Amino acid sequence: MKLIKIPFIIAFALAAIAIGASYIFSLRSEAEPTEYLWYESLQGLHELCRAKHRQSHLYGEYARHAERDSLPVQAALLRALAFADGVQCANCRKAIESLGGRFHTPVVQTSALQDTPTHLHLALQAKSAVREGIAQRCLHRAVEEGNRYIARLLTWCDASDIAQIVILQHVIEACDNEPTAPYQVCPTCGAISNSDLHTAYCPHCMTDRQEFHTFK
Ligand SMILES: [Zn+2]
Repeated sequence: MKLIKIPFIIAFALAAIAIGASYIFSLRSEAEPTEYLWYESLQGLHELCRAKHRQSHLYGEYARHAERDSLPVQAALLRALAFADGVQCANCRKAIESLGGRFHTPVVQTSALQDTPTHLHLALQAKSAVREGIAQRCLHRAVEEGNRYIARLLTWCDASDIAQIVILQHVIEACDNEPTAPYQVCPTCGAISNSDLHTAYCPHCMTDRQEFHTFK
């Protein structure tokens, strides 16, 4: 009888050792990185965040150039755009971090400056290209993945970009003496406007308009 039990005892002991070893190995192994699940989304958001960072930096350069050329209206707009894209960059960064990623601020090289009218055209081209390209792809992906938090942040970016494009087009087409400043920018979502008629709170994120940054 004892001879019959021995194989069972050995088999039981080996099974217990195998289960124990598997458990210990699973504890030592690192968990699947959460970034992997959102790899495509993270790549897109990184690209968008870098674009926003570069645009904010570039518009700041354009604004300083316009100030030196005594073009206060254009300078005010470009400073407002730089601030709005800085807000958007920060929101993209939050979106990246919400997926477990980390944004590394890129090095921005100083571009060759031209005249302010050319800068406004370049700003419009760059803004339209980013909005119609990577920004739309990121937004659609967030909606398809059901990530409402990121979709909301990117919808704010899109709304700000549309307003920026409309204002840029208006300033480029406007006469030099037509006043278009001051510009107001929401510090939470980057919404921008230059209208005297406006709501008391940001229509996108409900930030009190008293907190808006004014550029004039
Ligand atoms: Zn807002």
